[in-house]
Formats: sequence, C-alpha cells, structure tokens
Amino acid sequence: MTIRTRFAPSPTGYLHIGGVRTALFSWLYARRHGGQFVLRIEDTDLQRSSVESVNAILEGMTWLGLEYDEGPIYQTRRFDRYDAIIQQLLDSGHAYKCYCSKQRLETLREGQMQRKEKPRYDGRCRDGAKPPEPNAPFVIRFRNPLDGDVVVDDLIRGRVVFQNSELDDLIIARSDGSPTYNLTVVVDDSDMDITHVIRGDDHVNNTPRQVNILRALGAEPPVYAHVPMILGADGRRLSKRHGAVSVMQYRDEGYLSEALLNYLVRLGWSHGDQEIFSVDEMIELFDISDVNKAASVFNQDKLLWLNQQYIIATDARHIARHLSHHLGLRGIDPAPEPDLHRVVQAQHERARTLVEMADISEFFYQDFEEYDAKSAKKHLKPAAREPLEKMREALAVLDAWEPEALHQLVKDVATSLDLAMGKVAQPLRVAVVGRAASPGIDVTLHLVGREACLRRIDRALDYIRQRVEQG
Ligand code: GLU
Repeated sequence: MTIRTRFAPSPTGYLHIGGVRTALFSWLYARRHGGQFVLRIEDTDLQRSSVESVNAILEGMTWLGLEYDEGPIYQTRRFDRYDAIIQQLLDSGHAYKCYCSKQRLETLREGQMQRKEKPRYDGRCRDGAKPPEPNAPFVIRFRNPLDGDVVVDDLIRGRVVFQNSELDDLIIARSDGSPTYNLTVVVDDSDMDITHVIRGDDHVNNTPRQVNILRALGAEPPVYAHVPMILGADGRRLSKRHGAVSVMQYRDEGYLSEALLNYLVRLGWSHGDQEIFSVDEMIELFDISDVNKAASVFNQDKLLWLNQQYIIATDARHIARHLSHHLGLRGIDPAPEPDLHRVVQAQHERARTLVEMADISEFFYQDFEEYDAKSAKKHLKPAAREPLEKMREALAVLDAWEPEALHQLVKDVATSLDLAMGKVAQPLRVAVVGRAASPGIDVTLHLVGREACLRRIDRALDYIRQRVEQG
C-alpha cells in the first residue's frame, strides 16, 4: 500500500504556524514512508475563501520547500462529484431531506440548553418527512447510526471511542444544495486514496462523523493523527495576538525556512537531546506516533536561537542569497564589492536573523546616515584626531589591502603613538562603521575598501573639528 497524506487548508486567511506544523508532519510522514503528499484547497466556503489566501498558502509551501506530489486540488472544481455522492447517500437511505425550519431548530436548541442537554438535532425528519408545502426548502442530513460506537486508533491520541448516541444527524447539504465540510472531506479523502489523515485536533469531533459517512459509502476509513495545538506564552491558543500572523512574516523578519521547520518539528517531539535536524534527518527520524499529546508552547527565543545556529552553520553563499533579498528591500544592491558571502562570514555570529544581519551590514555598501550617538561621543573626540590622521596617511599608501597588512598597520600606528591598540581601532571603527561594533577591524577595513575608508575617516575628522569648535 502506498502511503498518501494530504494537507487540506481552507483559504480563509494566511498560512499560519499551526497550519505549517500540520503540513510539515503530513509531508514528513509521506516522505519517510516513500509515499505521496497531496495539497487540497478546501475553498467551498465561497464567502470566506479568497484568491489572496490561496496564493499565501502556495507561496508559504514553496518558501518552506514542502513540495507536494499532487495538487493543488480545488474543492470548488468538484461540486458535481459531491452532488453525485449526496444523491447516492439519499438513494441508499443513508441520508434524508429535512424540512425543519430555522425557527423550529432554534426553539429545539433553546429548550435543550435550558434543560442543560447537549444541543442536537432530534431526528424529526429522519423517518420520511413530507414537505410542508410543494417547494419547501430542505437540507440533507446524514442518517447517523443510533447505537454502537466508533473506535478511532489515533496515532497521537491513542484509542478514542465515540458513542453514536452522542452524535446527531449532521447536515451534508445546505438548503442551497452546497455540500458541507464533513461531506467534502470524506469524499475527497476517499477519492484521493488518502491513507493517513494528519490534521489539527480541532477536528477530533468531526472524525467519528466522517468515519460513519465513509462506512456508509462502503469505504475504508484512513488512519487518523490529530496534532495538538500550539499555545502562546500566555497559555492561549496561538493567534494574531501573539505576533506573527502569516508564515511569510517569518521570512520577512529574517528567519530561514530550515530553522522554522526545525523549530516546528521539535515542538512536541524530540529525539534524545538533539536540537538541530536537517530536513533529511527529520525525514529519517521523525515519527508521528512519538508526538506529544499535550499542547506545546511557542517559544520565540528558542526559534531565534535556532535561527542563529542555522545562520552560523549554513554555507555562507546560501545565507548570502537570502541576505541579498533583505538588502534589496532597503534599496541596497550587494552586487558590487564586497562579495556578500564574505560579509556573511564576517557577521554570522553577530546576528540572530537576516534582518539583524542586514541592519549591521548596510555600512559595507553605503555610507551610514549618522553616527551612533554614544559611540561618537565616546570615541570621536579630540584625542582621536591624531590616530585617525595617521591611519588615513598610512591607509592611503598601503600596498596590500589585505586583513593581515591592515592589522599590522593599526598595530604600528598604535605603537608609534604609544597608545593601546583599542585607542586607534575604536575611533577608526566608529569612523568607518558609524558605531563601535563590527567584525574585527582588519576584516572590516578590508571589506569596506580603501576609497570608502578614506572618505569616512575624513568625515570623522570633520566631525571632531566641529565638535572642538562647538566646545
Ligand atoms: N480545511 C480544514 C481546515 O483548514 C482541514 C480539514 C481536514 O484536515 O480534514 O481546518
């Protein structure tokens, strides 16, 4: 049997972190077992579905590298098929027309609530109701078995038993004829030969209904795994309130997709003490049945930490490709000097995200607007004038513009002035970078290049002069 899993989002909003985790688990399960992964867009709710959401889902899946073997399959293109199945269920007696008015259902519900009973349809039309008038509107309900139970051996939650007496006859077609969620999912999971349904645990209570419909259609139910939800640090379900809404926001905030996937796979699952998993390792080691039953708490700091680990460990040329996207957003073209991957090599331990890395790397490509006030106050003072002038003279004529020679030069200037090296290097750094933090001064000067270094030292000397004049 070929394992087939699916990710079946409703395009009614962005692709969010919880959805990505479910998609990742389904994808990993298929990959691990040499199976296939299907993307199905559940867009039958025409009011709430949008093209923007569909695009956001597709863009997110692409960014994450969660490639699907089939799809996207759109449910809105399958209405004929759902109609046929609804008719089949009516013909076989597994479904019936219900003419109960909204008002009757409302009164029924209120009475049940008052008596502290679970609100449910009472089955009034179950045994062949007559239309109250010739063209009376009706919905179609599934005739759920009255007794017995539905046993679901959930890969994460273990065995869950549902009593049929607890379930009512759910609506499978609305009065306008449109099929409902539980019907379309069942038809699709069956038609698409889905063997394993891995989805959020907000669908647990739909499962016994879906199993009953599948059985009525003579189909074998798939294996289910309900993934627990993700909570925010305040213990409430992760939502917009907690910051990032769309998965693409993580890209915009400078996360690497590999780090995000790694973070999500570890959320509620572990393999010894290992924290870092390449995608290949995830495929090899991740097992859905080892996922924790309890909800997991989203920890932004841990995600940041992992992102930094990835920035450090990943090939600098790969990081450079992503960094250039962030620099591009700021109007910086990193194509001319210096080579961006050398910038990444110099900066990779100093940034937790690519946005932070872009922040601290702009100066390699363009003159900064103004000095960091604290750094300038501390380092660009009259005592720095002489070291800066000497450095300027020496840099102007240095033969080999290489880190080693640059290092030696700073050292020589410090010795000649009888100063500690920092008294030369720090003013120089603020002059060239705009603030007192950067990679080693030799690497910094090397990457910034001679011309820009000399120009910026002149600017710093002007700044000191003005400071002196202004007292
Ligand atoms: N479309 C449903 C949702 O987005 C998922 C249905 C399913 O996975 O069975 O919540």
